[in-house]
Amino acid sequence: MTDPVAMGARALMAGGLVAFPTETVYGLGGNALDPVAVSRIFAAKGRPTDHPLICHIASADDLTPLVAEVTPLARALADAFWPGPLTLVMPRSGAVPDAVTGGRDTVAVRVPDHPLALELLRAFGGPVAAPSANRFGRPSPTRAGDVRDELGDTVDVILDGGPCAIGVESTVLDLASDPPQVLRPGGISVEQIEAVIGPVAAASGPARAPGMLESHYAPGARVEVLDAEALPARADELAGAGEHIAVLAPGAISPLPDSVLVLGPAGEPDTYAALLYAAFRRADAEGCAVILAVPPAAEGIGVAVRDRLARAAAGS
Ligand code: AMP
Ligand code: MG
Repeated sequence: MTDPVAMGARALMAGGLVAFPTETVYGLGGNALDPVAVSRIFAAKGRPTDHPLICHIASADDLTPLVAEVTPLARALADAFWPGPLTLVMPRSGAVPDAVTGGRDTVAVRVPDHPLALELLRAFGGPVAAPSANRFGRPSPTRAGDVRDELGDTVDVILDGGPCAIGVESTVLDLASDPPQVLRPGGISVEQIEAVIGPVAAASGPARAPGMLESHYAPGARVEVLDAEALPARADELAGAGEHIAVLAPGAISPLPDSVLVLGPAGEPDTYAALLYAAFRRADAEGCAVILAVPPAAEGIGVAVRDRLARAAAGS
């Protein structure tokens, strides 16, 4: 039997595409230093080429060739959070092709916290550019089967590492601005970052980072975000009108019409994050027209979940 990781590394060396699990979501990887491989990523996703990609590396030592300078701030954050769901945006070196950064003078880098991802990166021996392994605008895949459903034959190798533990994308922190600014909330909270480097600027406005559209991460079903108190009446109203609906909420969900697909209770923010995208996909698979979602508390990763729900709602 051929070792899947070795097959993946060979595919990367040949300029191919490899989908691999990370602790956040599945990534669609190609050799970050090969503009042709990078262009294949954009084509497979149907993603506009000015949306920059995150470079994945095996350890903080591999940061040096990609960036202008490894600053003390970057070093402190890497020591604290890598491997882990924190992406650092830094002035780039000349080694990083324009294709990866969308022509920007900054590059986004992280070390993923997943044994298969790290094995792949070590076996390949270079940086791997990888956005989430979904078609542009769709929810990120959190299971290997989701990648197969979305991208199928356009990927040379799909590594199966089971369901992703975190379930929403990494936090993107821009170190090129002063103070550093959170461009996308994610797996590491602002509080965790501030405990290491002091105050940072919070995410502000919808299009904070290039490629972070207001409408994004959206299932086929329309998403409505609402309070727990408003859920029963709205569910009755839509189900009564003959709509096939799904509901997702952190806490217990009171009895609803039989036709309603219950996707929760999703529980605490971390369990909510872990099931969010799989719940979106399930609602689509069952042909639901609407997902009614009560967001988790705005603490820890709950901030990222609320961000994704708002973007999914804006996209529907
Ligand atoms: P995804 O590939 O879908 O996980 O998203 C990657 C995200 O990282 C992009 O949409 C941007 O928000 C962010 N990003 C990547 N590179 C840069 C960069 N050079 N500057 C700012 N943000 C970046
Ligand atoms: Mg994505």
